[in-house]
Amino acid sequence: MIIQLQQGLPDNLKENILQQVKAIGYKANEVKTQEGDYLVAIGKKDFDIRTIGQLPGVADIHRVSDEYKLISRKWRVSPTQIDLGDGVVVGEGQFSIMAGPCSIESERQIELVVEHLKANDVRMMRGGVFKPRSSPYAFRGMGLEGLKMFHQLCHQNGIKIITEVMQVSQIADMVDFVDVFQVGARNSQNFNLLDALGEAQKPVLLKRGISGTLEELLQAAEYIFSNGNEKIMLCERGIRSYENAYRNVLDLNAVPVLKAKTHLPVIVDPSHGIGLRDYVEDMSLAAVMAGADGVIYETHQKPEEAFSDGQQTVNFQESERLIRRMRQAYALRQNF
Ligand code: PEP
Ligand code: MN
Repeated sequence: MIIQLQQGLPDNLKENILQQVKAIGYKANEVKTQEGDYLVAIGKKDFDIRTIGQLPGVADIHRVSDEYKLISRKWRVSPTQIDLGDGVVVGEGQFSIMAGPCSIESERQIELVVEHLKANDVRMMRGGVFKPRSSPYAFRGMGLEGLKMFHQLCHQNGIKIITEVMQVSQIADMVDFVDVFQVGARNSQNFNLLDALGEAQKPVLLKRGISGTLEELLQAAEYIFSNGNEKIMLCERGIRSYENAYRNVLDLNAVPVLKAKTHLPVIVDPSHGIGLRDYVEDMSLAAVMAGADGVIYETHQKPEEAFSDGQQTVNFQESERLIRRMRQAYALRQNF
C-alpha cells in the first residue's frame, strides 16, 4: 500500500498515520523524493483502506499488489517524464536518442562526436570514463579527468551527458559533471550503489542485468526510487543465452511488458543487445516499433579504431541514417 502524504505535514499528523498503519499490522517505510513524501506500507492483512485514507494528512492511498510499489503502474497510472533541463525531456510523448562512443578516448574524439550529434539534432551523448571490462588488461576508461573534459565540451554545446558509475565512492566526484548516471548490467543489483544513487538525486539509466529478469530490474529501480530519486529510466540491453551467433539476445519482449508494469521510461540499447554493428539499425527500428521511449547506441568516428566495443559501433554515416530512420519509424508509430 502506498500512502501519499500532504506536503509539509506536521510531525504529529505523520506520527498518527504511522501509528494507525502499525495498528493494522503493516510496516511503514518512509520515502521522501524530489516530488513528494510517501509511506510504503508492507503487510498482508485485509483491512478497510478508508481507515487510513480518511486520516488527516493523507493526500492519496492505493493498494499495490506488486512486489515493487513506487515504480508500479498500478500506483502511478500515467507514464513518467524526466526533465533534464534545456528542453531535453525523456519519456512519454518523446523519442530520445542517446549516442556516443563506448569509451571516452580523447578531446578530439569528443569534439567529433559532439559535432556529429549537433548536426543531427541529438541532445544526449553517452560515453564511459569508468569502464567495466572482462579483462583487467583492457582499456578501463579515462576516469574523472576524462569526465571533466567530456562535461565541458558537451555543456558548451547544449548536449547532456550519460555515463556509467561503477561504485558508490565515485558518485560524489562525478555528480556535478553528469546529467544521467548509467548503472551498467554488471551493477544492476549492486544494492549499495542503487541506494546511493537514490540519494544522489540525478537521473539514472538502469540497465538490465546480464542474466537479469524483469522482476529483478524493477526491484532494482524500486531501490533507487525508495531512497529518494524518482528520475529513473530502465534499459533493455540484451540478456545472455546459449546462442553465440551474436553477443546477447536483445529482448524486445521486455519493452511492452515493462511499459505495462511500470510508469518509468524504457530505453533500448541495440549495440550491446546484438553486439554486431551491421544489425544495430534493424534492432533499433524494431525497438521503436515495440514502443521504446528511446534508444542508446554506440557511435565513433572510426569504429575499427575504438578502444572498446568497436565491433558493435556504427560510424557517423551509419549513425546519421539510423537517426533519420528511427525518427521516421517513431512518426509512423505515433500515427498508427
Ligand atoms: C556500456 O554501455 O558501454 C556498457 C558497458 O554496457 P552494459 O553495462 O550494458 O554492458
Ligand atoms: Mn560498450
